[in-house]
Amino acid sequence: MDKKLHLETLAIHGGMEKDAATGAIVPPVQRSTIFEHGEGGMLETDFSYTRQDNPNRRQLERQLTILEQGEDCATFASGVAATAAVFQALEPGDHVLLPDDVYHGTRKLVTHFMKKWGLNYSLADMSRPEVVEQNIRPETRLIWIESPSNPLLLITDIPAIVDIARKRNIVVCVDNTWPTPVNQQPLDLGADLVVHSTTKYFGGHSDILGGAVIAGENTEIFPKIREIQIMTGAVPSPDDCWLLSRSIRSLPYRMKGHNEHAMQIARFLSDHPKIADVFYPGLESNPGHEVAARQMKAFGGMISFTVKGKADEALKVVAGSQIVAKATSLGGVESTWEHRLSSEGEDSTTPDNLIRLSVGLEHPDDIQDDIARALESI
Ligand SMILES: *Cc1c(COP(=O)(O)O)cnc(C)c1O
Repeated sequence: MDKKLHLETLAIHGGMEKDAATGAIVPPVQRSTIFEHGEGGMLETDFSYTRQDNPNRRQLERQLTILEQGEDCATFASGVAATAAVFQALEPGDHVLLPDDVYHGTRKLVTHFMKKWGLNYSLADMSRPEVVEQNIRPETRLIWIESPSNPLLLITDIPAIVDIARKRNIVVCVDNTWPTPVNQQPLDLGADLVVHSTTKYFGGHSDILGGAVIAGENTEIFPKIREIQIMTGAVPSPDDCWLLSRSIRSLPYRMKGHNEHAMQIARFLSDHPKIADVFYPGLESNPGHEVAARQMKAFGGMISFTVKGKADEALKVVAGSQIVAKATSLGGVESTWEHRLSSEGEDSTTPDNLIRLSVGLEHPDDIQDDIARALESI
């Protein structure tokens, strides 16, 4: 498909193929785990066994490749499985650089699990490119970026980090779960790999778990990631692929709603007397705003904020909502919020009065009124 088409059009048509047997516009779920070999009993057909490849998975991978302007994609059973595949593609003794405000699951994966594999790491403040440069070692093989970060929504200047990495042949991988390709396209900014938890905005309805790695041009590491996908087998089911393919078709319009509503709520929160700080890169007062405005088309649906007070006050506010669901995760049509420190657990550095909010697609005035009411409880 012509990559010059707009994202709204690509989301609907890109990578979709009519069912050859029936002409069905939406291809069916192919639950069969096995596919018949060719005439002479030889394996000469496209598909053989579903862990290796499946028509629904292949379609989903085509769709994601097109939306991120990549060359290839490997999908996984969850976002952390996709993340793990990237780190497993490195060698023991290699060194990786992570943001100090990275998604806590990624931090744990590297600091606990991959450490046993012999992977070395440093955590750095990636909102400052000079700090990234200072932390690079001769054995640094990969820089992991999450922008906006989780949960403080710190912004990393992606092209600046790509510049630093290029000179040293270091792979740059961006976790683009929060912005989605609608708001930010890291491969276009020079990154080598993009990772997604498709559980979030791609799925968009809090009912699918999934992950993906999308590779840009000439990415030497990608064939290893494909090998890990097939050999370790954390692949998505045909049903999940089908449902995700369906959800992706409305992603650009859902993101427009998330972006608009979050901007309204961020403005409302920053004027509220019971709020200490609002972390949202769309606000002109945010330290990352200028860089975000350069590399993002819009600022997304996630907001973190601190209430005046401590954990008790934050928990009271969370408990006080009627529309905003008290739940972890993000990216669904329904608004959700949580006391983030409770979710992250012991070794978290998240402030104890911080609430993380995923702004949904309810009418923004209803979300705002619900939050206003909840804030009356402190
Ligand atoms: C949720 C999330 C993940 C992990 O994805 P799962 O689908 O839960 O395994 C990774 N990165 C970010 C930024 C996330 O929000």
